[in-house]
Amino acid sequence: KKRNTGQKLFHQAVREFIESVMPFVQQNPQYQKAQILERMTEPDRIVIFRVTWEDDAGNVRVNRAWRVQFNNSIGPYKGGLRFHPNVNLGELKFLGFEQTFKNSLTGLPMGGAKGGANFNPKGKSDREVMRFCQSLMIELHRHIGEDTDIPAGDIGVGAREISYLFGQYKRLQNRFVGVLTGKGLAFGGSLVRTEATGYGCVYFCENMLNHSGDSIKGKTCAVSGSGNVAIYAAEKAHELGGKVITLSDSAGFIHDPAGIDAEKLAFIKDLKEVRRGRIAEYEEKYKEANFYAGQRPWGVPCDVAFPCATQNELNVDEAKTLIGNGVKAVSEGANMPTELAGVHAFLDARVLFGPAKAANAGGVAVSGLEQSQNAVRMSWGRDEVDSRLKTIMREIHDKCVSNGDADGYTNYVRGANLAGFKKVADAMLAYGVV
Ligand code: NDP
Repeated sequence: KKRNTGQKLFHQAVREFIESVMPFVQQNPQYQKAQILERMTEPDRIVIFRVTWEDDAGNVRVNRAWRVQFNNSIGPYKGGLRFHPNVNLGELKFLGFEQTFKNSLTGLPMGGAKGGANFNPKGKSDREVMRFCQSLMIELHRHIGEDTDIPAGDIGVGAREISYLFGQYKRLQNRFVGVLTGKGLAFGGSLVRTEATGYGCVYFCENMLNHSGDSIKGKTCAVSGSGNVAIYAAEKAHELGGKVITLSDSAGFIHDPAGIDAEKLAFIKDLKEVRRGRIAEYEEKYKEANFYAGQRPWGVPCDVAFPCATQNELNVDEAKTLIGNGVKAVSEGANMPTELAGVHAFLDARVLFGPAKAANAGGVAVSGLEQSQNAVRMSWGRDEVDSRLKTIMREIHDKCVSNGDADGYTNYVRGANLAGFKKVADAMLAYGVV
């Protein structure tokens, strides 16, 4: 803690992980002797740099950017970039730490990293975002590469930002390689990458429900967020026969008791992805819905919850409300959206609880598939990528079951942490003292 003073999110992520793996580490002295946990909780390397850019009015603006290269034991560093005004080192360390074990769970050869900047894309023109991305890449390009570190999107970094970043990397290096994922389809992107995190989160949930003899069909689903992950989680939940009744953003949530169908989702995609508007507009368009300013959707009774906005967006009281309302499954689309006490409440109530590391791994898995396609200079069809995504999510589910089953209940938190840990730890042991 002394080394990482004030990094609350990082402490939270490490604590949850250690709770799961400690008994196993204690039973296997080779890990203790090698100080594996000490080594795993210290990033390999952190790069911190200034990003200077000019806004449309000609003012010089200064931001700070980071790349946390956490662990490359099982493959090159891989993880998203986040642009949000509150981004800080502790947040990126929590995300890079989680990413290491998530990537391990996918079964693909990817290490863990995360990065970003305290830049707020909201209200900025496309040209401002472009100048910021180009300036950021002037430094970042030295630290990344298709066999070294392959960034992707995250909060505030979508198709537009990845395109600006990739265009600048290509210009600086004079090389066209798969150094970023989430690229446009015209320049090396993969089909289904945009949808992958949301779809994967729902596939994971369907696997959990199937494993207990149930399914999403006919279930009422509460989704939070209205960004990349939330939109495609809602789309897949609807496709599988669920009724999606909520979405949100940082200003509040909408409740549509009639259900958010394909036509309404098309409106939301245009609102959020093209017009960059606010979810409150949904209420004006669809009179059957209500917008609740400054609130989160967890008080609305539902069978399944998909928190898909941000960290710590579901606290212990909200978890108890969901349990009281009979929630059967929770599948985390966002990273660490549930506070630790909330996680414990779900586990104690024997709710099917899919932690982010497992449930939202579909995004990075398809990023891994994008890298493979780039490496062989091929593009796979939509069905091929989607079927690989489904298979990967089922395999992650099964790893959680084999590592987390006890007394007729699967503790997916323990299962995901243990399965993710073992592969990384064994690689680290094999390398000796490094
Ligand atoms: P987007 O930027 O597309 O959307 C983020 C959504 O969350 C928006 O609706 C946003 O609302 C809301 N949000 C962001 N910050 C806050 C906050 N502090 N309080 C309340 N709401 C907030 O990001 P993504 O959909 O890509 O990411 C969402 C989550 O999923 C993150 O935790 C991310 O790390 C995780 N994730 C994303 C992956 C991906 O492939 N994109 C992969 C794996 C995990 P507003 O517009 O008002 O800010």
